[in-house]
Amino acid sequence: MPPRQVYLDNNATTQVAPEVLEAMLPFFKDLYGNPSSMHAFGGQVAQHVQQARERVAALLNAHPDEILFTSCGTESDNHAIKGVLEAHPEKRHLVTTKVEHPAVLNVCRYLAKHHGYRLTELPVDRRGNLDLDQVAAALTPDTALLSVMTANNETGTLFPIEKIGAIAREKGVTFHTDAVQAAGKLPLDMARLPVDLLSISGHKLHAPKGIGVLYIRRGTRIMPFMHGGHQERGRRAGTENVPYIVGLGRACELARVELFEETNRLRQLRDRLEQGLLARIPSTHINGNPDWRLPNTTNLGFEYIEGEAILLHLSAAGIAASSGSACTSGSLEPSHVLMAMEVPFTYAHGSVRFSLSKYNTDQDIDYVLATLPGIVQKLRDMSPFYPKDAPRVVETAS
Ligand SMILES: *Cc1c(COP(=O)(O)O)cnc(C)c1O
Repeated sequence: MPPRQVYLDNNATTQVAPEVLEAMLPFFKDLYGNPSSMHAFGGQVAQHVQQARERVAALLNAHPDEILFTSCGTESDNHAIKGVLEAHPEKRHLVTTKVEHPAVLNVCRYLAKHHGYRLTELPVDRRGNLDLDQVAAALTPDTALLSVMTANNETGTLFPIEKIGAIAREKGVTFHTDAVQAAGKLPLDMARLPVDLLSISGHKLHAPKGIGVLYIRRGTRIMPFMHGGHQERGRRAGTENVPYIVGLGRACELARVELFEETNRLRQLRDRLEQGLLARIPSTHINGNPDWRLPNTTNLGFEYIEGEAILLHLSAAGIAASSGSACTSGSLEPSHVLMAMEVPFTYAHGSVRFSLSKYNTDQDIDYVLATLPGIVQKLRDMSPFYPKDAPRVVETAS
């Protein structure tokens, strides 16, 4: 057994907060009514669903009737994109970016391939930033939807959605943002942001897997995703996932209360990890925009070695992180995000993402700083790409 378990893969999923689990439990036992029922069993449960809706709305500074519960972040993205296109049958063009989560990118590509939509995928620069003039130029009278994420899940890089939304408004294009990674980590003020639709996923902010939210601004033209009963004001049929909705409401409430303090604490922890690794391990690079990022994320490229090998050794030492690579049909390709950024070949393959949460401590960071340099040096010593005279790691850097 490794001396310590350190979970630094919180952009993949987070631990359910004990307070969230506590809030959910009664709805697996006594509070089992159907919120649509006329009797008291249902009415009581309906009140809790409404309270959860208000708590999510409070995190976003939105109206409760703008909050739609879904089954996950992926459904929220699918609903936003397909629902807006269906509501604008005369428009045949949609615009997104090359670095979106597959829950956006693959929906757009599906619609282009199988439904004849014209798709523009905007490129990014080496730091993962968009060119706003290119965004504006891409939007035409035929464009139904612009979908641009708030924060990138792999690098943490933020897009200026306030400016992008303003461009979309000026052009009369509906604007959707996947804010799954931003929610609970950064303030999102829907009274101020020119955003029509915004996706959230429960399991990225300490609620369970299998619950999400689509924020739909009042007046936005969008078709329902599932047809059936009158749940969710006719926008998503199907009996509500009450325990998970209640859990997500509690998670949003916690996030709202803790946001400011946690953001600062996480940023300090992340910076200590990042600076500590950069000081100890030569030929290491930050992927993404170091000046405009999520407070909890760092994506580092280690030259000469494979990200997967680093992850396996980290895992053996009790440390969970993730690599940008996706193993497709036996060939290891760098992630589409790093490829779109044209990260140099020498470290695109050796990239590792560390993503922190409120449950990480200083001791976690100390342990990674004591463990990872040795792993990198060992792998480099075995690598045919590693020059014999290249600088070696410094295990004791401050
Ligand atoms: C995790 C994630 C999703 C998907 O959310 P699920 O609830 O897992 O479907 C979508 N977008 C981003 C940016 C994510 O990080």
